[in-house]
Amino acid sequence: MKKIYWYIICDGKLYLPNGEVPCEEFCPVAPAPGKIVFGLGLISGIPARAVCCEEKLDSLVGVRDAFELLPESLYKPALAALEKVLWDLNSQHCPVCGGRMDPAGFSGKRCCSCGKPQYTIIAPAAIILIKRKHSALLVRAKNFRGTFYGLVAGFVELGESVEECVAREAYEETGLTLKNIKYFGSQIWPYPNSLMLGFTAEATNDKISLLDSELTAAEFFSIDNLPELPRKDSLARKLIDSWIAEETAAREQQAAAKLAAQQLAQGPSFNDFEAFKAAAIYQK
Ligand SMILES: [Zn+2]
Repeated sequence: MKKIYWYIICDGKLYLPNGEVPCEEFCPVAPAPGKIVFGLGLISGIPARAVCCEEKLDSLVGVRDAFELLPESLYKPALAALEKVLWDLNSQHCPVCGGRMDPAGFSGKRCCSCGKPQYTIIAPAAIILIKRKHSALLVRAKNFRGTFYGLVAGFVELGESVEECVAREAYEETGLTLKNIKYFGSQIWPYPNSLMLGFTAEATNDKISLLDSELTAAEFFSIDNLPELPRKDSLARKLIDSWIAEETAAREQQAAAKLAAQQLAQGPSFNDFEAFKAAAIYQK
């Protein structure tokens, strides 16, 4: 029997009976009439599909909450499933004449009245880890749920490159100007159709002024006094964790270099390297 992973999206949530993605020969629920069943590639050799369901279902879980329930290999397709199903739902009618849009080829539709093609719509957004010496800028935005600090972020505007967006968002929200803007990585953000593009950059000074009313706080933090951080499934957290690893490695190198210099000058005064390293970090 050929099995398929069924990513069933119902009312913006994921159907997870017993906390698992159904893996069966046939879809366990009736797909919504007239909606596309999307292919999601293979997961460990097993095909996966995204289905929209309009029935009332139990066992629905918010897609972000599925991060806590599923291994990463099964969680990532859930993001793609949600994004595809939402695109299908939001592109039922032609934006020119209001006619019905029918599927046409991969990731596209065509109006059955005027023939206008429409491809999947992705809204790119930039998220930026801004460094200054050995600290990083973390912010609180009005729309953050909970008490964590995150990163400066915003949508790319029409006529703007992503790098220009990075510089503009940083300046608009914090008054900081940037240098050494570098691409870090990206992540699907299907709420409803974003692609988050992560960057690192250095602030040319540390004078923060909250010019934008979106932010309620912004501060440079070292790895010694970090506030509550974003969830581990977010690109923000991956950027922050990568910076923490960099800073930790730099400190260890600095401690090793100090030890070597001291041993060279005076002979070893600490037999236990770990004790010295801890002392060097503590004194910093
Ligand atoms: Zn049309």
